[in-house]
Amino acid sequence: MSDLSSLTSSAYQQALEVIASVEPRIAEATRQELVDQRASLKLIASENYASPAVLMTMGTWFSDKYAEGTVGHRFYAGCQNVDTVEALAAEHARELFGAPYAYVQPHSGIDANLVAFWSILAHRVEGPWLEKFGAKNVNDLSEADWESLRAELGNQRLLGMALDAGGHLTHGFRPNISGKMFHQQQYGTDPETGLLDYDAVRAKAKEFKPLVIVAGYSAYPRRVNFAKMREIADEVGATLMVDMAHFAGLVAGKVFTGDEDPVPHAHLTTTTTHKSLRGPRGGMVLATEEYAPSVDRGCPMVLGGPLSHVMAAKAVALAEARQPGFRTYAQSIADNAKSLAEGFLKRGAKLVTGGTDNHIVLLDVSSFGLTGRQAESALLDSGVVTNRNSVPADPNGAWYTSGIRLGTPALTTRGFGHDEFDKVAELIVDVLTNTEPGTTSAGAPSRATYVIADGVADKTKSAAAELLDKHPLYPGLDLA
Ligand code: PLP
Repeated sequence: MSDLSSLTSSAYQQALEVIASVEPRIAEATRQELVDQRASLKLIASENYASPAVLMTMGTWFSDKYAEGTVGHRFYAGCQNVDTVEALAAEHARELFGAPYAYVQPHSGIDANLVAFWSILAHRVEGPWLEKFGAKNVNDLSEADWESLRAELGNQRLLGMALDAGGHLTHGFRPNISGKMFHQQQYGTDPETGLLDYDAVRAKAKEFKPLVIVAGYSAYPRRVNFAKMREIADEVGATLMVDMAHFAGLVAGKVFTGDEDPVPHAHLTTTTTHKSLRGPRGGMVLATEEYAPSVDRGCPMVLGGPLSHVMAAKAVALAEARQPGFRTYAQSIADNAKSLAEGFLKRGAKLVTGGTDNHIVLLDVSSFGLTGRQAESALLDSGVVTNRNSVPADPNGAWYTSGIRLGTPALTTRGFGHDEFDKVAELIVDVLTNTEPGTTSAGAPSRATYVIADGVADKTKSAAAELLDKHPLYPGLDLA
């Protein structure tokens, strides 16, 4: 990240003054958020710190403009500057990822997946159905014909990675619309190794015959062979959609290449822009030429008007990711994850899959006698921000869990390297070793309460502060 100039400091100071003149409590919360982020060891695998240029781009009058439609084809007048922004963001995305087509409007990762699902349904189900019945579009259908098409659209199958194996809610789980609109099944990981078993995925795909296979993950600490996933999809006539929300930065930074780069293998690749890619909070869909026309219908099919200020910030972040320094950053994310994993293993901790080769480390905290919930809370009390996560076949379910998911993108942005991540592992093991499960108010065993040995949280906080002081967040940014 480039150093902030005094110009940036005064810009933020003045912005906060303007905000305070209307609602001082928001100005204060904004100021406090920076203080808090600076003071914690952020190990949430899906978070990062966007550059000041990205952050500032979001705070402009582009927010005020409606621009439904696509570049050069809007349902509103006066969109010439939004066209510039959207075209540039899409161009950067295509160049960065080597994708034939990029759609930069999705407001979030969930929205990007929804655009992808509906574009697959439009391309594979609605289009052929209309053709068969000689209709030009859905507006020409009688009520009876529409009911029949709706039954087709609502009866398709999706195969995604199981939640407790590291998949995401949007990959076919009941609480998400993907699990309601599709008949869904999941593939898991090998019970012994915790690794993806491609033969098992193939067997399941052959039996289930899905329209869509979703690859990608939120909590799987390993790389995926997307060439193999495409082979499986082709064998069963499925569309391969890869959700690279978590590891887009590693793809952009050329850490994942060849079979590990999803873009040349998937029909559609979806992503968030705010995790390892280090951009603004938002989503994106990359597609082959074949799927481009249906993806382009994302707004108004499932999206509202594009967030032009965020598309502008996506363009800035993607321009940053095209600079050579981003490759060094991405490689450091992966190297640091290895250092963190080795730091745990040498101190006797247990990791799902025995290690990592991406940006995620999944710590199984059952060997400390704790649930994920207890571990997450004890670490938070000690200034270490993580999130609890299921491990495969988790006996504690998705709420209490038995794991802690850790990621290296954010602290790598702050400049942490091998020694600092080794120290982070030491601090975490120390906190968990000195934490015991608590009881309920009635004295029964609890999966939520915990007791940390005296002094451990304070000792950890000061050790963390020492590390953080050496690697300041937004150096030069002074809001005093
Ligand atoms: N896809 C994956 C793999 C994710 O991990 C996430 C978020 O954690 C999402 C999609 C959803 O992203 P968002 O929160 O931007 O909707």
